[in-house]
Amino acid sequence: MHDNERVSAPSETNAWNHVYSGKVRDLYEPAAGPDDLLLVVASDRVSAFDHVLEPGIPGKGDLLTSLSLWWFDQLREVPNHLVPDHELDAAGVAVSSIPAEFAGRAMLVRKLDMFPVECVVRGYLTGSGWKEYVASRTVCGIPLPDGLRDGDRLPEPLFTPAYKAPLGEHDENISFSRMVELIGEDDAVALKDLSLGIYETASLTAERHGVILADTKFEFGRNPATGVITLGDEVLTSDSSRYWDRDVYLTSDDPTARMASFDKQIVRNWLAHNWDQDDASTPTPPTLPAEIVTQTAARYRELLERLTGSAR
Ligand code: ATP
Ligand code: MG
Repeated sequence: MHDNERVSAPSETNAWNHVYSGKVRDLYEPAAGPDDLLLVVASDRVSAFDHVLEPGIPGKGDLLTSLSLWWFDQLREVPNHLVPDHELDAAGVAVSSIPAEFAGRAMLVRKLDMFPVECVVRGYLTGSGWKEYVASRTVCGIPLPDGLRDGDRLPEPLFTPAYKAPLGEHDENISFSRMVELIGEDDAVALKDLSLGIYETASLTAERHGVILADTKFEFGRNPATGVITLGDEVLTSDSSRYWDRDVYLTSDDPTARMASFDKQIVRNWLAHNWDQDDASTPTPPTLPAEIVTQTAARYRELLERLTGSAR
């Protein structure tokens, strides 16, 4: 079922209380039972430039959840927030109480004390990093050599954190020293090291599958019971990352076309050409045309197939 009603509104369920909706995901808690669990349900909603667009992308919640689960498994050595089935049994939570309509789109996770920082790693220069580079030859204040082009590989991957703004406000790129002020030096260093390490592992994995992981964003939290810094949220999905086709990147002469993306850049590009965000007379973004929706869904699916090798 991919009707608009489900795309735009969280569902009611008896066993699970709806506690929060972000632009893309809906969070639920068990109505009875342990209060340290969360059900993260990915919807088919798609956002760009901080707006949720209409219509959703059919199958997106499912694809992104599958991708996240696959990556958590690849990154097994990093503590993550997934709750194994045997722990659920012990906690008295029946997996069967998860509504059927969430099937394939839901992850049961341990509730973490989230750090208010998005841990961005960029291996390539594009997006907001490229904009800052054009203006100041820096990315998040880190100086870079002259002569780089949009989409170029950076001399080394950069950790460029952002402050996770409260709902409705824009996330803000911050320097590492600002991050230290916000969460303390020990945790800031730990998150930076973890982020760069995961990026390195994941980008090598992606390259083996013919895909470039240009940049990505992680969110970490602390497990309140154990104190362990834990990888949360979604991980290495096409919502939280830029993925490009490696063959196209290496063979294309066109500096823009080489970034053939498997992510919502397709949506961003269409919107950038068809909507003026700053024009007060058009506060709402236009409806996405059917071909953009189809193309985006197909690219998301292709990424999952390339990485996991499973045809869907
Ligand atoms: P945006 O719409 O800008 O993405 P958002 O990040 O708040 O806002 P979602 O990404 O849709 O919205 O919602 C997921 C939310 O769940 C995020 O706020 C994320 O920080 C939070 N989250 C993810 N994993 C956990 C966890 N294990 N414990 C607590 N909160 C978590
Ligand atoms: Mg988010």
